[in-house]
Amino acid sequence: MTIPTADALPGPLTALTEDERLLRNSVREFAEAQIRPLVREMDEHAKIPRSLIDRLFDLGVMGVEIPDAFGGGGGTFFHSVLVVEELSRVDPSVGVLVDVQNTLVINAVLRWGSQELKARLLPALASKQVGAYALSEAGSGSDAFALTTRAREDGDSFVIDGRKLWITNGNEADFFIVFATVNPEAGYRGITAFIVERGMAGFSVGKKEDKLGIRASSTCELLLESCRVPKSAVLGEVGKGYKVAIETLNEGRIGIGAQMLGLAVGALEHTIKYTKERRQFGKSIADFQGVQFQIARAATDIEAARLLIYNAARLRDARQPFLTEAAMCKIFSSEVAERTASLAVNLYGGYGFVKDYPVEKLYRDAKIGQIYEGTSNLQLQTIAKNLMS
Ligand SMILES: Cc1cc2nc3c(=O)[nH]c(=O)nc-3n(C[C@H](O)[C@H](O)[C@H](O)COP(=O)(O)OP(=O)(O)OC[C@H]3O[C@@H](n4cnc5c(N)ncnc54)[C@H](O)[C@@H]3O)c2cc1C
Repeated sequence: MTIPTADALPGPLTALTEDERLLRNSVREFAEAQIRPLVREMDEHAKIPRSLIDRLFDLGVMGVEIPDAFGGGGGTFFHSVLVVEELSRVDPSVGVLVDVQNTLVINAVLRWGSQELKARLLPALASKQVGAYALSEAGSGSDAFALTTRAREDGDSFVIDGRKLWITNGNEADFFIVFATVNPEAGYRGITAFIVERGMAGFSVGKKEDKLGIRASSTCELLLESCRVPKSAVLGEVGKGYKVAIETLNEGRIGIGAQMLGLAVGALEHTIKYTKERRQFGKSIADFQGVQFQIARAATDIEAARLLIYNAARLRDARQPFLTEAAMCKIFSSEVAERTASLAVNLYGGYGFVKDYPVEKLYRDAKIGQIYEGTSNLQLQTIAKNLMS
C-alpha cells in the first residue's frame, strides 16, 4: 500500500479556497457595515428596506450561481451557503431573503428553465428582481403534494386558480414559482410549476403574516383568480412539478442549515463578548468555569453543524448523493441554533429578555428553522427512509 502524500488527500471540509475566503470576508464586512445598524428597526417594522435589497444586488449575492453570461456571479452552491451563513450571523431575515432567491428560485430556473425562461429571468434575478417559491397552501404543508391550486389548459395558456400561504419574499418578489395541479386525479403526477409575475391579471399578494421571529422577512398569502399564464411559463414539464419541488427543496434545506448556523454563530459571539463584560461576585461572569463550559459546549455544537452543512453543500457541488446529509444538517443546525440562542438569553440574564439587547431576537428567529422547508419530523422521515431502504 502506498501512503498518499499530503496534497493528494482531500482538504479539510472547513478549509476555504481563496475565492470562498474572499467572498465570506466581503459578505461579513457588508453585513457588519450595512445590515447590523438596521437589525432592530427592521425587526420592529417587519420590513427589509428596498435600499438594502438594492445593495445586496450590488454586492452580487442575489445571483450567486447565475452564470456570468447572464450577469450573475458564476459561483457554486457552496458559495451560496457561505453567503447565507454570513448574512444570518447578523440578521437571519436578510439571510432567508437571499437564501430563497439563490437556493430555491435561481436553482430551479437554472435546472428546469427553458432557454427562453433563462434568458428572460436570470439577468433580472441577478440584477434587480426578487423571486419567491410558492408551494405551501392552507391545507397542504408537510403533505405538500396534496395542494389544490388548479391550472386548466386553455388554448396556448394555463388559467390558474387557488391560494398559496406562507410565501417568503411575497412582498418583495417580482417572480413567483407557483405549483399547481393540472389534473387532481393524477395525484402528484399532475403537479406543474409555473412562473407567475407580479402585475399579471388575476394575481395578487394577500395578507402578510405577523410572526414570532424573522419578522423582517415577509411571509405572505398569494391569490390566483383566473390568472392566465402563457404555456411558455411552465417551468420544466407539465406533470413534473413534483420533481422541481422535491429536487430544489432537497438542496434548499442546506441553505436553511446555513441560516441556522449563522444565527448560532452570531448568538455565541454576542454571548462571549457580553460574559466578558458583565461582572458579578467581583469578576466577569466569563471567569466562572460553569459559564465557560456552557460556551465550550455551544462552540462544539456549532462546529458539528458547520461540518454537516459544508459536507452536504460540497457533496451537492461534487454531484454526489447528499439527501440524507442535507436532512441531517437541517435538523441538527436548527436545534443548535435554538440551543445556542437560548443559552445566549440565559447568560445575558434579565438583559437577554429585553429588546434593547440582540439575543432576544435571535431566540425568536431560531424557531423557524425547525418548521420551514420540511419540519424536523419530515427531516427525520427522510433520514430514516434512506437508512432503512
Ligand atoms: C415563516 C415561514 C416561511 C415560509 N416560507 C415558505 C415559502 O417560501 N414557500 C412555501 O411553499 N412554504 C413556506 N412556508 C411553509 C412551510 O414550509 C410549512 O409551514 C411547513 O412545511 C409545515 O407545514 P404546515 O405548516 O402545514 O404544518 P403541518 O404539515 O400541518 O405539520 C404540523 C406538525 O405535524 C407534523 N407532521 C406532519 N406530518 C407528519 C408525519 N407524516 N409524521 C410526523 N409528523 C408529521 C409536523 O412535523 C409538524 O410538527 C413557510 C412557513 C413559515 C412559517
